[in-house]
Amino acid sequence: MSAKRADPALVAKAREALEQALPKGAVRDEPDLLEAYGHDESDTGDFPADLVVFHARTEQVQAVFRICQSVGVPVTPVAARSGKSGGSLPLYGGVSMSLERMNRIKHISTEDLICIVEPGVVTGELMKAVEAKGLFYPPDPNSLEFCSIGGNVAENAGGPRALKYGVTRDYVIGLEWVLPTGEAMRVGRRTIKGVAGYDLVGLFVGSEGTLGVATEITLQLLPLPKRVMTALVVFPSVLDASSCSTTCPSAPSTGVGSTFLRARVRRSSSRWMGTQTTACSPSFRPSGRSARRTDRRRRWWPRARSSGRSCGPRGARSRRRCGR
Ligand SMILES: Cc1cc2nc3c(=O)[nH]c(=O)nc-3n(C[C@H](O)[C@H](O)[C@H](O)COP(=O)(O)OP(=O)(O)OC[C@H]3O[C@@H](n4cnc5c(N)ncnc54)[C@H](O)[C@@H]3O)c2cc1C
Repeated sequence: MSAKRADPALVAKAREALEQALPKGAVRDEPDLLEAYGHDESDTGDFPADLVVFHARTEQVQAVFRICQSVGVPVTPVAARSGKSGGSLPLYGGVSMSLERMNRIKHISTEDLICIVEPGVVTGELMKAVEAKGLFYPPDPNSLEFCSIGGNVAENAGGPRALKYGVTRDYVIGLEWVLPTGEAMRVGRRTIKGVAGYDLVGLFVGSEGTLGVATEITLQLLPLPKRVMTALVVFPSVLDASSCSTTCPSAPSTGVGSTFLRARVRRSSSRWMGTQTTACSPSFRPSGRSARRTDRRRRWWPRARSSGRSCGPRGARSRRRCGR
C-alpha cells in the first residue's frame, strides 16, 4: 500500500534543522535502519520513514516537533515496535521519533507507592526494579521483555493480570507530555489521592501517539504479593472456564493472572516442548498422588502441592498448584 509521502524537499529542510538542533549522530537515514523502523508486529506492511531521530531529553523532543511542525513534515513516535495495531508506522514517511534512549528509571518511592520513569524503559525491567523494593507493577503485556512503558501507555496495554488488576490506564497517574506543537506540560498527580480537575492523563492513555509524546510517566504501584502460586485448571467447556474467570477476581487470594489455553493449543505446545499431553487433556482427572508421582506430569505441575478445590460456579474438574 502506498500513501502520500512527505515532500523530499521539505524533508531535506527539516533534516538540516534537526542536525543543528540535536547531538551528532541523532538524525539517521541508513536504508537498513529505515527498513527496520518501517514495520512493527502488526504485519500491516512496510512504511519506511525518511529519517529516524534518536533523542534522550524532553527539550530534544520539543525541538523535533517544533522543526517538523514549522517545515510541514510528519512525525511518528516509535518505541520498541512490538505494537499489534500499527501505531508506530510512519504511514506518510517523514520522521520516526524514537523514544528508546529515554530509558531511565528516575525514582521509586516505597513511601508513596509510585515510580517515575522515562518512556523507553522496558516494561519487564521496570517490574524487576520495583519488585526489588517490595513493590508491584501489575500490567503485564506478554511482550514485557521487550516492549516499553511509553508504548504500553500509548496503547493502554493489558495482559494476563488484567482480569484481576486492570490495565495500564489504571496505573498511570501523571505525565510529562510534549504536544505536537512542541509545548511541554505536566498533567496528573504523584499522590495516591487526586480527584479534582479534568482527567487529561486518561485522555492521553491509549492515544497511540496521536496527541504527542509522553516524556515522563508517573505510575501507581502496589505492595508486592507475598506469595504467588500457579494453577493449571482444566474445565470441561469454554463456558465453564469463562464463568470461573468472572468469579476468581473477586476472591482476595486468587486470580493474579490468567491465560486461556484451548486443549488443542496446549497439546501443540506440549508437543513442541517434547512432553506427553495425555495427562493434561480436558478429560484427565488426576488425583493429587498420581500427579505427584510421575516426572512427566511434573513438567506441567512442578512441585505440585495439593489437589484442587472447587473453582468457579460449576467447579473445575481438576487443579494443581505449584510454587513459582
Ligand atoms: C509477542 C507479543 C505479545 C503481546 N502481548 C500483548 C498483551 O498481552 N497485551 C497488550 O496490550 N499488547 C500486547 N502486545 C502488543 C504490544 O506489545 C503492546 O501494544 C505494547 O504496548 C507496545 O509497546 P512498544 O514499546 O513496542 O510500542 P510501539 O509498538 O513502538 O508503539 C506503539 C504505539 O505507541 C506510540 N508511542 C510509543 N511511545 C510513545 C510515547 N512515549 N508517547 C506517545 N506515544 C508513544 C507509538 O506512536 C505507537 O502508536 C504484544 C505484542 C507482541 C509482539
